[in-house]
Amino acid sequence: MRDFSGDHRWLSINTATLRGAGTLDRIVEACARHGIRAISPWRDQVHAIGLERTAALVREHGLALSGYCRGGMFPAMDVAGRAAALDDNRRAVDEAKSLDAACLVLVVGGLPGALAGTPKSKDLFAARRDVRDGIAATLEYARSVAMPLAIEPLHPMYAADRACVNTIEQALDLCEALDPLPAVGAGAPSPALAGLGVAVDVYHVWWDPKLEAQIARAGRARLHAFHVCDWLVPTKDLLNDRGMMGDGVIEIARIRAWLEAAGFGGYSEVEIFSSENWWKRPADEVVATCIERHRSAV
Ligand code: ZN
Repeated sequence: MRDFSGDHRWLSINTATLRGAGTLDRIVEACARHGIRAISPWRDQVHAIGLERTAALVREHGLALSGYCRGGMFPAMDVAGRAAALDDNRRAVDEAKSLDAACLVLVVGGLPGALAGTPKSKDLFAARRDVRDGIAATLEYARSVAMPLAIEPLHPMYAADRACVNTIEQALDLCEALDPLPAVGAGAPSPALAGLGVAVDVYHVWWDPKLEAQIARAGRARLHAFHVCDWLVPTKDLLNDRGMMGDGVIEIARIRAWLEAAGFGGYSEVEIFSSENWWKRPADEVVATCIERHRSAV
C-alpha cells in the first residue's frame, strides 16, 4: 500500500468540496496554490465558466482530471425522456474527452421525477432496466471516443431519487453484462482500464459487508475512481453533511488497502458536500485540511 504520509501527490480534489469558494476558476486557483495535481470538476461548474475556459485553466495549471462529474440519470417515463438522457450523456462524454478526464462518473438515477420531489412511478425495476439500457447505449458511444465510464453506486438511502445502483456488487454485475472482459488466458490481455468500471466512494459503500470481496472482484481493470470523505455520527443531512476524512467512522485506509491490493494505483479524490461546515470555510483552509487528512487519515 502506498505511503501517503509524506506528501499529497495522490490527492485529487473533487471540486464539489470547494463549492463555497465560488466559481471554478477560483477553485482551480485555490488548488494550484496548494500544489494539487488533480481535480474532478462538476458539469454545472464547468458550464458556468465555459468548457474552453476550463480546458485552458486545466492546461495552465498542469492539472489531471481524476474524473468528470457526472453523467447518468437515465430513467424516464417515456421514449423522449430516455432519448434526452442519452443525448445529455453523449455531451457529458464529449466534455470529459475534451478535458482529458480519466473517466466519466455515472450517477445512474432512480425513479423518474423523484429528484425533483415528484416521483412519477414506483417501479424501481423499470428504473433499473432504463439504467441498464442507458449505460449500454452510452458505453457504445464512449468506447468510440475511448472515454471510460465509471458507475458510482450510491448508498441505498438514495435509491428513489439519485441512483438505483447501490452496491459495488450490483455495479459489477452491470459491468460484466455490458462490457465483458476477455477471460484470463484467452489470448488478448485485459485492458488496464475497462470501458466500464466503478467509482468506489467510501461514503456510499463503507457499510457493505461484501465490500472487500467486491473490490477484489472488480480488480484493476474496473477500479476507475476512489472517492473519500467521512461518515459523521450523527449525520445531520443525508446529502450535504459529509465529513472530512478522520472526523467520522469510516476506516478509509483499510478500504484503500483493499483497492490497492486489487491493483488500484490512482488518486484519492476528496468529495465533501458540506453546506453547514466546509462550504462555509475559506478555500485555502479547506484544501489545507484535505492535504493534512490525506496524509493522516486516508
Ligand atoms: Zn463520489
